[in-house]
Amino acid sequence: MPPIRPLPPLLINQIAAGEVIERPASVVKELLENSLDAGAGEIRVDLEQAGVKRIQVRDDGCGIARDELALAVARHATSKITSLDDLEAVASLGFRGEALPSIASVARVELTSRRAGQPHGWRLCSDGGDLADEPEPAAHPIGTSVEVRDLFHRVPARRKFLRTERTELGHIEQLLRRLALARPEVGFRVQHNGRELLDLRPQAESQGSASQARQLRLQALLGEAFMSHALELDERAAGLELSGWVARPAFSRSQADLQFFFVNGRMVRDKLVSHAVRQAFQDVLHHGRQPAYVLYLRLDPRQVDVNVHPAKQEVRFREGRQVHDFLFRSLHRRLAAGVQGDDLAGPV
Ligand code: ADP
Ligand code: MG
Repeated sequence: MPPIRPLPPLLINQIAAGEVIERPASVVKELLENSLDAGAGEIRVDLEQAGVKRIQVRDDGCGIARDELALAVARHATSKITSLDDLEAVASLGFRGEALPSIASVARVELTSRRAGQPHGWRLCSDGGDLADEPEPAAHPIGTSVEVRDLFHRVPARRKFLRTERTELGHIEQLLRRLALARPEVGFRVQHNGRELLDLRPQAESQGSASQARQLRLQALLGEAFMSHALELDERAAGLELSGWVARPAFSRSQADLQFFFVNGRMVRDKLVSHAVRQAFQDVLHHGRQPAYVLYLRLDPRQVDVNVHPAKQEVRFREGRQVHDFLFRSLHRRLAAGVQGDDLAGPV
């Protein structure tokens, strides 16, 4: 066996990128989550060739100070947690400090940012993790732009796994739907090859209730059909809050393509959750049909571990049984009441 040697930093980042940067949609996800964590009210996304050639995300969030630009692309550097205690109660979408260095190890990255109070912005370029030594002044409104070019240009093996432009764009659209449903108060404008893909205005909660804001966003993304069959939920018990909409069984689908579950604002796919939902629908759905729902669960961040998987799509509930039963009971009750209401009102 050859001697044991530490890996060079670029390779370490490329290995990390293997876990989180699978395709252009993963880059878009990481950049948008950063914008949301930065408190952005409006986010613009520009894509070329389904993001393989170019992804640019611009936000009006808090920005990054000049002297922290290099740290933003450094591995394991984050502004979101400082201790194990923070990790156990993490409220932000990011916390690993790995996304930007991972992306920079497999693409060309240009980071431009301006904080409130600065007369102009600053730009830092990076190619393969080699940083241009010093940030240079750049015109930029308050907020941050990240441009990612030539994804996987240094990792041909990865590039071979990319699908057609259409498929990759489909993944991006799916991801955008999830984030836009999670955060109705944020505006999203997305262009692909110069054509507008999505224009979602921010739904200000101050102009109505949070439920109204969500309803408008849901309508824009999922259409009238879903909304007109949707039963609204708002349940609370023992520190757990479940809100959102489930479609009446009449609106069931052949595919599980309309199932969105958010835990503290993060879209997750979770076995325990799916099981509870399936059980609640058991008596009212025909075999092989899939329920449609957009549900938001809120609970104390200490009750849920998001540090399970690098891409953070899985979570672990500390009191899994309790969460399962709460979901099942809430949905079961709502469905029973809704279906009974239908009977009284006649068929929809
Ligand atoms: P993480 O999000 O896990 O902290 P990232 O590598 O995604 O790690 O980002 C590193 C740091 O760069 C973040 O902690 C944040 O301070 C800063 N950052 C990244 N994107 C933005 C943005 N759009 N606006 C403000 N700060 C950002
Ligand atoms: Mg991040």
